[in-house]
Amino acid sequence: MRDTLVINCGSSSIKFALIHPQSQTTVVSGLAEKLNETGPLLTVKTARGKETLPLAEQGHAEAMHGILHALESLNLLQDVAAVGHRIVHGGEYFHSATRVNDEVLKAIEACIPLAPLHNPVNLLGLQAALEAFPDLPHVVVFDTAFHQTMPEHAYRYAVPAELYRDHGVRRYGFHGTSHQYVTMKAAEMLGKPLEETCFVSAHLGNGCSITAVKGGQSTDTSMGLTPLEGLVMGTRSGDVDPNLHLFLHQTLGLSIEQITDLLNKKSGLLGLSELSNDCRELEQARLAGHTGASLALEVFCYRLAKYVAAMAVPLGRLDALIFTGGIGENSRFVREKTLSHLGILGLRLDPERNAGLVGGQSGPITLEGGTPALVVGTNEELMIALQTEKVLT
Ligand code: ADP
Repeated sequence: MRDTLVINCGSSSIKFALIHPQSQTTVVSGLAEKLNETGPLLTVKTARGKETLPLAEQGHAEAMHGILHALESLNLLQDVAAVGHRIVHGGEYFHSATRVNDEVLKAIEACIPLAPLHNPVNLLGLQAALEAFPDLPHVVVFDTAFHQTMPEHAYRYAVPAELYRDHGVRRYGFHGTSHQYVTMKAAEMLGKPLEETCFVSAHLGNGCSITAVKGGQSTDTSMGLTPLEGLVMGTRSGDVDPNLHLFLHQTLGLSIEQITDLLNKKSGLLGLSELSNDCRELEQARLAGHTGASLALEVFCYRLAKYVAAMAVPLGRLDALIFTGGIGENSRFVREKTLSHLGILGLRLDPERNAGLVGGQSGPITLEGGTPALVVGTNEELMIALQTEKVLT
């Protein structure tokens, strides 16, 4: 198969990458940003360097044509054999990547109530790409699909059953593409067949989630109906008492929308530190004596460690804890602090190894003889390209 164009469409941006699945290399990547705003831009990155150009001041369809023309001018258009799309929510419809047809489009639309912020813009990008590349096969890859293997006792909430039956209220989980990719890589690193592995995978970026992966299948995960549940994140609270809504409403008169905004955009590392949602910035502030930054990082790592232990339950055995995402791949401090809580699982930090692994490098950060913790660089675009290829061959 020739190259796959991977598209990740947000409300004001389209990220893209042209990937050669066989050699697992990125030929070109880029970002169309500030869509539907003033001064939209298209940045294209090749081995020769990076170039940023203005885009016509319109929306996603024009940006998709801008991407097409960029590929054309690089003489790469004829190499594109398929388009792989990241879609956030596949509900219970999609258990794996799927080739796009009318029925698939309808099912993605049917999932809009579950992801009202994400699925509509993902669909917008998909429609724009279907128009720009009408002769190519298109494949959709869902953040939720990997978690469809979770058993019912892990995905059901203890709320009236009719909410699940009639409205799909259950835990779905997200970041599936990343968790799947890093567990595949971790199995390779340990030299074990994936089917025989038991991993806890922690994806720590702006959004954070943790997944128990047994034999290459998700058996439990920290995010739920929406990506708000679970770990402390950049601006999201993660778990809180569900009665917090009532408390905030009664004491501060906040509306549901205001509370949702507070928990999604003003909480997490940002809310606790009263400084920033950015882990790197908080680490620097902590060293300078900022108590809010210190506390935010403490809470982040403690919650994470607690969830690692919880995720060991469905596995029965832990072959490795995996750290990935911007924080997992780079923050020595978060890895060290988290492992300091996890002696109970036989995880013992090797400070030298930990200090040596930054910037997307992969390897172990624990002492020989105990349970390994591995840093594994994630590559969601590559995983989307690999899954697209699998669907089409
Ligand atoms: P996204 O979820 O948007 O893809 P990333 O995976 O890029 O985000 O992760 C962003 C987070 O990674 C930020 O909190 C950032 O501070 C953190 N990060 C990146 N580099 C470092 C570093 N060297 N040390 C600590 N944190 C880092």
